[in-house]
This record gives sequence, C-alpha cells and structure tokens, in this order.
Amino acid sequence: MSELLPCPLCGDKATRASGYASCDSCSAWAQVEDWNRRHAPDGWQMVPVEPTGRMQVAGLRQRYDEDGTRGVYRAMLAAAPKLGGEV
Ligand SMILES: [Zn+2]
Repeated sequence: MSELLPCPLCGDKATRASGYASCDSCSAWAQVEDWNRRHAPDGWQMVPVEPTGRMQVAGLRQRYDEDGTRGVYRAMLAAAPKLGGEV
C-alpha cells in the first residue's frame, strides 16, 4: 500500500477508505493513485490567480520590510485562502 500524501489542495491530513483518499478540511477526494499524483511538490502552494483583498493588504503592510519583494510575496502567500476555506 502506497503512502498517502497530504491533501493536494489545502495540505491537511488525508484519510484512506476503499481505495479512495479524502480530506475532512476541504472535502476533496480522489482515487489514491490520482490523489498522490496531484500533490504539489514541497515548497509549493496553490493560490488564487487574482490576489484577494486580504492578500493585497498583507502585501501592502510589508512594502517597507527589509526583505523587499520577497517579504511582500511571503506575506501575500501567508494570507492566501486555503481551498475550501474562508476567502
Ligand atoms: Zn484539503
């Protein structure tokens, strides 16, 4: 039996039942092989194509941070909604 990777959409723990994997946090599900194939590599995350208002505010608050663009980018990613979560 192959290892079950975390949810490919929100990163939370997945559970296995009858050849399928599912996520209690965002309700995603798929066959185990497809589930593991869709997993984002370490260091990657799914974000909206257009930044949400919360992401933009987080980025603006970081604009004078000493990390410059990197700090803005990290703040916006941290504020990005999780799939199935509050936007
Ligand atoms: Zn999930």
